[in-house]
Amino acid sequence: MDWKNALPDIVTHPSSRLRFGEPLAKHTFFGIGGEAAAYFEVGTLAELAAVAHFHRQWEVPVAIIGRGSNMLVSDTGFNGIAVRLIGELAKLEIDENANAVSVGAGVSLPRLSKSMSQRGLSGVEFTLGIPGAVGGALIMNAGAWGSSFGDVVTNVTVMNDTGALTELSHAEAQFEYRHSGLSAYFCVTGATLSLEPGDVETVTAQMQAFYKQKIATQPFAEENAGCIFKNPPGDSAGRLIDECGLKGYRIGGAEVSTVHGNFILNVDNATAADVLNLVAHIQTQVRENTGLSLQTEVKRLGFDEAH
Ligand SMILES: Cc1cc2nc3c(=O)[nH]c(=O)nc-3n(C[C@H](O)[C@H](O)[C@H](O)COP(=O)(O)OP(=O)(O)OC[C@H]3O[C@@H](n4cnc5c(N)ncnc54)[C@H](O)[C@@H]3O)c2cc1C
Repeated sequence: MDWKNALPDIVTHPSSRLRFGEPLAKHTFFGIGGEAAAYFEVGTLAELAAVAHFHRQWEVPVAIIGRGSNMLVSDTGFNGIAVRLIGELAKLEIDENANAVSVGAGVSLPRLSKSMSQRGLSGVEFTLGIPGAVGGALIMNAGAWGSSFGDVVTNVTVMNDTGALTELSHAEAQFEYRHSGLSAYFCVTGATLSLEPGDVETVTAQMQAFYKQKIATQPFAEENAGCIFKNPPGDSAGRLIDECGLKGYRIGGAEVSTVHGNFILNVDNATAADVLNLVAHIQTQVRENTGLSLQTEVKRLGFDEAH
C-alpha cells in the first residue's frame, strides 16, 4: 500500500488540513519551489505524535515548516510530508504574575511582538520585523539589533520521532549565532519566555522604532528569505557583497537587492537553481576579493531526497 493512502487516517482534528501535491512556493517567502507530496496543517499534539509514528512506520521524510521565511525549496519539491503547526500548537498563554509566556511553535513573531507590547512586556520588540514563527525563530535563534530570540527563552519543548515530549533548558537548546541544537529533534512544539515588565508606551515605541528602521534599510516589497548569508565574525556579509560590486547582480530571475547586499530577491519567477547559482557566484567573488568564505543562513528543503 502507498503511504499516501494511509495518511488521511491520522487526520483527527476538524481544523487540520491535509492536501497532496501542494506547491510549496505558496508557503515560502521566496515564492520558489516545487510541490510537497503531502502538506499537513496539524492542529494538536496528538496528531503531531501520529505524524511522528507515521514517519517511522512508513519511512517517509517529514519537514516542519514555520512561515517559510528562511527556506529555499528545490524546484523538484519535497517528496515527503510538509507539516505546519496550527491550533493548539499556535497558542500564546501569559502568566502575568511571573512575566512568563508560554508560546506554541506555530505563533507568528509579529503576533508575539504585538501581544507582548500591548501588555507592556519587554524582550521581543525586535521580532515585529521578522516574519517567521516561534519554531523557526528557535531553530535559527533569529535576531536583530543585538538581540536574539534565545536570549528570552527559559525552556523549549521538543518532540522526538517516537512522539514523546521533552522539556529542554536554555543551556540544552544550545543557542548560538543564527543556530541552535534544536534541529536534532523531530519537532519543536513551543517554549517558555521570560520577559521584563515595562510600560506599554515604552515597549510599543521601541518595537515600532525597530520596525521602521528595518523597513528603511532592508527590502520588504519583493519576495526573499531574509539574509541569505551569516555575517562572518566581526564583519557584515552585506558590506562584503556591496564591496564586491554585486548589488543588482542577477542570474535568471534572482537578483542581489540594491537596498541590502545580503538579500537575494525573486524578481522574475526565479527558480531555486537561479538562487543557488547566484549564491555560488557571490561566494566565489567574496572569497576572491576578501579571502572570506560566506556561509548560507537560509535552510534548504528537497535537495537530497529521491524523486
Ligand atoms: C523580509 C525578511 C526579513 C527577515 N529578517 C530577519 C531578521 O531580522 N533576523 C533574523 O534572524 N531572520 C530574519 N529573517 C529570516 C526568518 O524570518 C527567520 O530565520 C525566522 O526565524 C524563520 O522562521 P520561520 O518560521 O519562517 O522558519 P522556516 O523558514 O519555515 O524554517 C526555518 C528552519 O526551521 C525549521 N523549523 C521551523 N519550525 C520548526 C519547528 N517547529 N520544529 C522543527 N523545525 C522547525 C525548518 O524545517 C527550517 O529548517 C527574515 C526573513 C524575511 C523574509
